[in-house]
Amino acid sequence: MTTSSSKANKYRRKKKFYKKRSPAPVQPAQRLPAEQADLFGSPGLHPRIIPRPEHCISRKDIDREALKVLYCLKDNGYMAYLVGGSVRDLLLGKRPKDFDIGTNARPEELKKLFRHSRIIGRRFRLVHVYFRGGKIIEVSTFRCRSEHDDREAAGNGIGDANIFGSPREDAFRRDLSINGLFYNIADFSIIDYVGGMADLKQGIIRVIGDDPEHRYLKDPVRMMRAVRHAARTGFTIEANTWEGLLKHSDKIRLCAISRVREEWLKDLRSGYSRPWAELMIKSGLFGSVFPGYVSALESEDKGLVRKLLFGLLGHLDRMVNDGAEVSDALMLALFAYPRLCVTPEWQALKVGRLKWPTYEVRSMLSEIFLPYDFRRSVRDVAVQILSSQWNISICLAKGKWFKRVWNKAAFRESVMLYDLVQEVLGQPVIGPDPHLRPGPKPLKKSGKRKRRSQRVRRLISESEEVRV
Ligand code: ATP
Ligand code: MG
Repeated sequence: MTTSSSKANKYRRKKKFYKKRSPAPVQPAQRLPAEQADLFGSPGLHPRIIPRPEHCISRKDIDREALKVLYCLKDNGYMAYLVGGSVRDLLLGKRPKDFDIGTNARPEELKKLFRHSRIIGRRFRLVHVYFRGGKIIEVSTFRCRSEHDDREAAGNGIGDANIFGSPREDAFRRDLSINGLFYNIADFSIIDYVGGMADLKQGIIRVIGDDPEHRYLKDPVRMMRAVRHAARTGFTIEANTWEGLLKHSDKIRLCAISRVREEWLKDLRSGYSRPWAELMIKSGLFGSVFPGYVSALESEDKGLVRKLLFGLLGHLDRMVNDGAEVSDALMLALFAYPRLCVTPEWQALKVGRLKWPTYEVRSMLSEIFLPYDFRRSVRDVAVQILSSQWNISICLAKGKWFKRVWNKAAFRESVMLYDLVQEVLGQPVIGPDPHLRPGPKPLKKSGKRKRRSQRVRRLISESEEVRV
């Protein structure tokens, strides 16, 4: 009785998820063999198929919702692959951030197939499938080119026919070999067109194809992505991939500023920002991405700047990996501080009285982060955190936490930055919430307090006498 009712529930759930479709003029099941012929037919284009017993990806490591989408596609006769970063992370034994799916179903077909879904994007349309709890699974039709390639072609009105492609083309349009692997839900195998499996095993970061320079020139952000994945995995960047990076690092300036900003902010938040910064500097990308920062790394203070930069980013990584909340404002302040603290303008802000030089700090910050812009709320808190640094030094020198200092909204984060800098420099730290702890008492004129306390004591003893 219970079994049949649970079976019925399951069926009902299934029915709800799979939207009822009107019979399609061409049955997807008939389309599959044609695609497969295209996929495996031409000699020399065969992918390497790694069967289930030879790899470690198990369905229990894949999100329930992603599995539902994969099976729904497969059951309706479409190809359904897990693609991109999720396959890479699963093979590395990490939990993927998101599970992206690739298929030969077109966006309109996907929209019909999934009741709760939406087509997003204008030229490179993909489908978001929505689940309870706000989870979104991204499903994209196999493409023959990346959305950042051939921008001119986009302008010339090249249509869908030239965007969608075969699974092979979809693998080759990707950035790195380790990101070009597919997990096939039909037989649980891995499909490798790009040599990603061998590179994963050997710990190599390699741009897909045999001309990394060409790939970088098509989309310079790929250079940042190569550095990102080398920093995250600790893999070695393959010689041609590295040479191309050294040669074309300045081309990153050709990319949209907002896109580059999102990329480096992602790296700061990644938990691997220290190795990322080291590789960015080594490859020359740092100078192209942060033209307002790089001069400090070549100045006579470069030793201090590097020590602070790597030390602070190391602490940021520790906090991120421990799951601590690190606001964007603190992250920006922490990243800017090593550059800021060696400028004469910053030193000029050291005065013997409490002062919040927000205007000056804001303009220094914009110079460091030129040409990037930030949300005003984030930038203003970062400015607060930085401009409180001299005030904290004054409080420590006077042995007193002034209310004007500790009642600022960014006080905790300001002390946190102060302490992290102290730690990197090997100096004593303050610790959290110093104003709530009885700190060292400031020197006081003892006479007044003594007389007052004697009077109080006399009053108390008198009152006690009366009561007696
Ligand atoms: P993360 O763990 O940071 O999400 P990811 O590799 O999944 O890493 P995404 O930005 O989510 O990165 O991109 C998804 C996939 O899209 C990548 O794995 C890669 O195959 C492809 N991709 C992303 N950016 C590019 C690009 N600029 N050029 C070519 N392919 C790209
Ligand atoms: Mg991803």
